[in-house]
Amino acid sequence: MTVARFDLHMHSCFSDGFLAPTELVSKVFEAGITTFALTDHDTIDGVREAQKQAALLGIECLSGVEISSKWRDTEIHIVALKIDINNEYLQEKLIEQKQRRRERAQLMSKELEKIGIKNAYEKVKERVGPVEIGRAHYAKLLIENGYGKDFQTIFKHYLTKGKPGYVSNQWPSLKEVLEWITTANGIAVLAHPGRYKLTANQLKHLLTNFKNEGGVAMEVVTASHNSQQIEQMAKLSDQFQLLASVGSDFHGEGVHAAKLGALSLLPSQCRPIWHYWSESK
Ligand code: AMP
Ligand code: MN
Ligand code: MN
Ligand code: MN
Repeated sequence: MTVARFDLHMHSCFSDGFLAPTELVSKVFEAGITTFALTDHDTIDGVREAQKQAALLGIECLSGVEISSKWRDTEIHIVALKIDINNEYLQEKLIEQKQRRRERAQLMSKELEKIGIKNAYEKVKERVGPVEIGRAHYAKLLIENGYGKDFQTIFKHYLTKGKPGYVSNQWPSLKEVLEWITTANGIAVLAHPGRYKLTANQLKHLLTNFKNEGGVAMEVVTASHNSQQIEQMAKLSDQFQLLASVGSDFHGEGVHAAKLGALSLLPSQCRPIWHYWSESK
């Protein structure tokens, strides 16, 4: 019997990933994954291409998007799965997100000018065309200009709160984003909960709000969680009655730590998110 392999969080060059959807899906297939979701930041523009390639290879591609939101003072990412990509309300909201990204990218470019990088926005725009520029695009430019050796170093010194190239963003509230997802018949998953640097108490408050406002699942296994965090998140998913999701957050080889086909299995007490759609069939 073939064991289903899931990876419900990854990026293509329609946001800050390095592969085109078609190339990405081929890699997904080679890694032995049979169900995956393309979850670019605030855009669904790559989903159709990914689904087309997945159909050719006989694997399942769920529609997805990773939406940036704000909860208290923290930027929280919500992965929306199985959304109706034709839903006009969601499409409108994602256009607004792109506008927010564009304005931030232009402000960031001005900040980067102060530390010696000229015309960062124009330089990256030339490469990425219609894609909205995110921090990872600038990170690459900074590496090329000798500002640091890898993404980790660049983010630490330039692109995070309090650092010279950082510009805060007015993301919509967690509550608003959950409402968009619900309207588009999607399943809302809290992305990489271990990454937000919240205290145990704050994380519980976040999970309470998330659940009350329509959240369905949380990532338990993701590349940035160590084994202790996987255990902690498994317990919390149980306690808050949230389904457990699995996603690499793959952006391309050698750039971030995430690899395809290398995630550990969900701890046995978890209720996997895929039971949700197999039960409701
Ligand atoms: P943005 O959505 O434009 O604010 O950029 C966030 C993205 O930057 C994340 O999705 C990652 O791809 C990348 N990123 C954030 N922090 C780091 C880090 N410490 N190291 C490497 N990549 C990072
Ligand atoms: Mn990213
Ligand atoms: Mn994220
Ligand atoms: Mn991601």
